[in-house]
Amino acid sequence: MEINMKQVAIIGAGVSGLTVAHMLAKKGYSTTIFEKESQPGGLIRCKRINGSLFHICGGHIFNSKRQDVLEWFWSIFNRDVEFSKANRNSIVFMENGLKIPYPIENHMYFFDEKIQKEFIDDLIKISQKTNNSPQNFGDFLKQRFGETLYRLYFKPYNEKIWRKDLNSVPLSWLEGKLPMPTVTEMIYNNINHVEEKAFVHSTFWYEKKNGSQFLADKLAEGLNIKYNTPINSIEYIDNKWNINKMIFDYVIFCGNIKDLPTFVTGLNLQKYKEDIEKLEYHGTTSVFCKIDSNPYSWIYQPSKQHESHRIICTGNFAESNNAEGIMTATIEFTDYINEEDIKENLKKMPLNPQYITHCYNKYTYPIQNKDTRKIIQDLKSYMKQFNFFFTGRFANWEYYNMDIAMGAAMDLCKTL
Ligand SMILES: Cc1cc2nc3c(=O)[nH]c(=O)nc-3n(C[C@H](O)[C@H](O)[C@H](O)COP(=O)(O)OP(=O)(O)OC[C@H]3O[C@@H](n4cnc5c(N)ncnc54)[C@H](O)[C@@H]3O)c2cc1C
Repeated sequence: MEINMKQVAIIGAGVSGLTVAHMLAKKGYSTTIFEKESQPGGLIRCKRINGSLFHICGGHIFNSKRQDVLEWFWSIFNRDVEFSKANRNSIVFMENGLKIPYPIENHMYFFDEKIQKEFIDDLIKISQKTNNSPQNFGDFLKQRFGETLYRLYFKPYNEKIWRKDLNSVPLSWLEGKLPMPTVTEMIYNNINHVEEKAFVHSTFWYEKKNGSQFLADKLAEGLNIKYNTPINSIEYIDNKWNINKMIFDYVIFCGNIKDLPTFVTGLNLQKYKEDIEKLEYHGTTSVFCKIDSNPYSWIYQPSKQHESHRIICTGNFAESNNAEGIMTATIEFTDYINEEDIKENLKKMPLNPQYITHCYNKYTYPIQNKDTRKIIQDLKSYMKQFNFFFTGRFANWEYYNMDIAMGAAMDLCKTL
């Protein structure tokens, strides 16, 4: 380990803040994490309700395409002892009760003859078109999958999540998250009945005990974390940072960038305030339910009969997630929905979900527009001069998964 006397404050003990602390510890920095909640994890936090595990912000599973992230992750966790490897087994429940295995475009033979023929016509049209360069999410989906699948599934499902016309959703920040099958692949997969589990990224790792809270708790072990400590003011004074009367050389902010202009004193962030206030986002209401036994991991719900878009059968991810004799799941609704409406919605949903509890998180999905990355980058460059850095889903305003958040934190720490 290098020796380094720099004092570093990290705001937030989510995946990003915890990763930063580990990386900086390797470099010999002394770190203090300030966390407003009483436990680590941020969006990946879980709690036990009557013996079953509630992922308070949606079920979280781990996987990564980044080798350096995987190497670091598995240097901390014992894969064979602490995790199970699971196959994705997802399904789309259509409006009329039809169940189509996921990904839907590979299972068009489940539809009736008319839809199958329309889909074939769509594929012919797609393959005849050249120079496709979609300008927005809606165009992308239509050009990639054709009008029929767009109408039946992609449009209604995604509009439940994004709550806006998909033609006004920009593409840039969905990179790496979009399905990219070619026409040849779709035809091949339909002819050969290729299932989801045959795909490279259709497996995931899941904690045998305590779900993603286990991950957060273990990452937090040995770190200097001050819980129940919301930071509302960060003062730049004499080339150092004063947080809660403690003096730091560096600050790594892993909270929500919307807080920065009001938190930071001693520097003038007025220029950035208006742009940051305008950043758009969605929240999620996660509803914890008892549900009928089923073999699924994710259930996608394009149906307009109810508002929820996704059921995550977290009870199927690990036996220890369910109290004895019951099966549990987390059902996601975009933005706020009250308990009465939740219960009305549950009545119309498949697999007989029975309400246990729910949790609303105001910030879960950052939304970018064409200027967002520039706004964030400008603020980053400005703050960097004062040894103030930031990384994380809502600090960078990026649609990160855990592994990408870890990767971004690792990249930042390499520069320090
Ligand atoms: C519904 C949903 C499902 C998801 N599923 C998956 C999945 O299956 N797999 C996957 O890899 N990723 C998934 N993700 C993404 C994943 O949750 C995030 O990438 C990751 O948790 C982001 O971590 P973070 O540390 O950047 O942010 P956060 O988790 O938001 O952490 C920020 C932390 O900072 C603290 N904080 C904020 N402000 C202050 C303050 N002023 N003072 C003190 N503390 C503060 C917060 O309390 C929090 O602990 C999902 C996200 C959502 C919304």
